[in-house]
Amino acid sequence: MSLSDIKNRIRKAEADAGRTAGDVCLIAVSKVQPDARVEAVLEQGHRNFGENRVQEAQGKWPGFRERFEGIELHLIGPLQTNKVRQAMELANVIHTLDRPKLAKAIARLAQEMGQCPDLFIQVNTGEEDQKAGVMPMAADDFITECRALDLPVRGLMCIPPVDEESALHFALLAKIAARNGLSGLSMGMSSDFEKAIALGATHVRVGSAIFGDRVAE
Ligand SMILES: *Cc1c(COP(=O)(O)O)cnc(C)c1O
Repeated sequence: MSLSDIKNRIRKAEADAGRTAGDVCLIAVSKVQPDARVEAVLEQGHRNFGENRVQEAQGKWPGFRERFEGIELHLIGPLQTNKVRQAMELANVIHTLDRPKLAKAIARLAQEMGQCPDLFIQVNTGEEDQKAGVMPMAADDFITECRALDLPVRGLMCIPPVDEESALHFALLAKIAARNGLSGLSMGMSSDFEKAIALGATHVRVGSAIFGDRVAE
């Protein structure tokens, strides 16, 4: 696979779903990929990238930003409260807001910094113990709480359980978003992004299908 193949598949999925071409933001997930692979994708003009660790992102993106204009960085991994400042300085979008303590930390720093990345609330649609995210039953209240803090909540994000039909989780996420008046849906990865687009994804997070297997994982 390559960047252009993935973009073509996204265009087709948009058309099949009766959606406008270009509706879906492709986030190229570059975690643990060698710089040369990331650079090749930047050279092709792509600008939206996803990282799941703040420290790793800090190591590689300031340098790329000096060389390439208009990079949009999406933080898609769990965020610890002691890394919030760095995350907010680095990322344009944070997809993993999932608890009140984190919401309060972001709100406090947004005041101080006078800016805030766009935010997606992560929902643990599979109710898995080991996975981050607010439980589906608690999502409405948490969304309300984040809005009361004046946080720029744009949508919801999920990572379905590996052994379950992801469409069910995408549909659940879309339902929670709709009843809360949220338009953003960050869902779908290499193996299921077309399904996610059919169910309303606005942001798909695709790693290995663009870059190849992750070497260090
Ligand atoms: C790694 C990762 C992806 C990309 O996974 P692929 O299967 O390589 O496309 C998407 N979302 C999150 C949250 C990830 O951590």
